[in-house]
Amino acid sequence: MPTTLFTNVQILDSTGEKPFAGEVLVQGNRIAEVSRQAGAITREAHRVVDGGGAMLMSGLCDAHTHFSWINQAGLDPIGLMPVEEHILEAADNARTYLDCGYTMCVGAAAAKPRLDVVVRDYINKGRIAGPRYLANGPEIATIGGLGDLNPSHVGAYTFVEVVNGPYEMRACVRRLLKEGVDLIKLNLSGEEITKCKAEDTPMAEDEIAEAVREAHRKRGVRICAHARSAESVKLCVKHGIEIVYHASFADEEALDLLEANKDKHFVAPGLAWVYQTCYAAADWGITEEVARNMGYFRELEAAVETMKAMRKRGIRVLPGGDYGFAWTPHGTYAKDLEYFVELLGFTPMEAIQSATLLGGEIMNRPGELGLVRNGYLADLILLDGDPLQDITLFQDRSRILAIMKDGSFHKEMTPPARAQVSVAA
Ligand SMILES: [Zn+2]
Repeated sequence: MPTTLFTNVQILDSTGEKPFAGEVLVQGNRIAEVSRQAGAITREAHRVVDGGGAMLMSGLCDAHTHFSWINQAGLDPIGLMPVEEHILEAADNARTYLDCGYTMCVGAAAAKPRLDVVVRDYINKGRIAGPRYLANGPEIATIGGLGDLNPSHVGAYTFVEVVNGPYEMRACVRRLLKEGVDLIKLNLSGEEITKCKAEDTPMAEDEIAEAVREAHRKRGVRICAHARSAESVKLCVKHGIEIVYHASFADEEALDLLEANKDKHFVAPGLAWVYQTCYAAADWGITEEVARNMGYFRELEAAVETMKAMRKRGIRVLPGGDYGFAWTPHGTYAKDLEYFVELLGFTPMEAIQSATLLGGEIMNRPGELGLVRNGYLADLILLDGDPLQDITLFQDRSRILAIMKDGSFHKEMTPPARAQVSVAA
């Protein structure tokens, strides 16, 4: 069994304990030993990596990923792109996630039914590079719901599956399950940039109930929802939708419900989309004034207050920013960690635990992913610096010296080691 020994590293293990000097032995695809004593682990490993004092930690998780969003300004291009180009784009984006130190990603919808599952399968076969991935199908919307872009006189070209009534919902969910999705995505609420607004909740309860019942028939399959309105968040709790996306306008009642069921739900606000639509989309015609008129500033303010309240209530909130639009391009994923600290008041340690420890939980592999600990899968990154002192460190790919997934290097450290980490007392 191939073995790798990391020596001369600071270890940020994601338990909440401050980093400590030590060594980590990887055997096959698992962490075999974490030692606090230099020289205690045998040097007979196949490969010894002198970390030069760099920070070794778990790979990161993005809880709201779209491999098939293609850095365009709007939703039409996602629907119109032919499948051949689209699969290549999706594979390229998968690699970018891993290049950025993300070893776990939760698919938050694919633009066509098989894009996510095919990319996931080829990653798992080792044919293409990418993170561990939970594949999704297209978002399911009702007629007139978020993503129903079709003018009524034109055939379907949109990036969502449009259904009407429980019968069509059941058929749609079954078709996606047949293709092998890990998740089903429902568009419960709308979105300011479309005709269906963020606080609209167009999907009916019998449609939601049918989708959840059908998806849960298959072992391991969970449901996620685009849920910006207060009503939609309450529907997520009522119907057992495990992953709640956005939740910006959750009111006291919705927060109470989530808190009372905090072991069952994850929330990923997708802050980058809202924040950058407010402040970084002017080149595409969305000036701050336009964004304000669209309602995005109002939503950003609401989302920040809501997420602060969730943090205080111990609700599991994870980074994952809906990346893949022109003003939220692929490769900038770690901005979310900065938003968690700067906007939501998370400590850097809490933000990192959300992206690692909670990442393992949302990936449905608690006890195996998200910590640097004996027996865990060897998904590790080696950082040139201390992210507890500078959370923006993750945004600079050159500071991620090495990336290991499942015990194999995606990126190897190039000697000589230049990292020198000083850990804050
Ligand atoms: Zn999204």
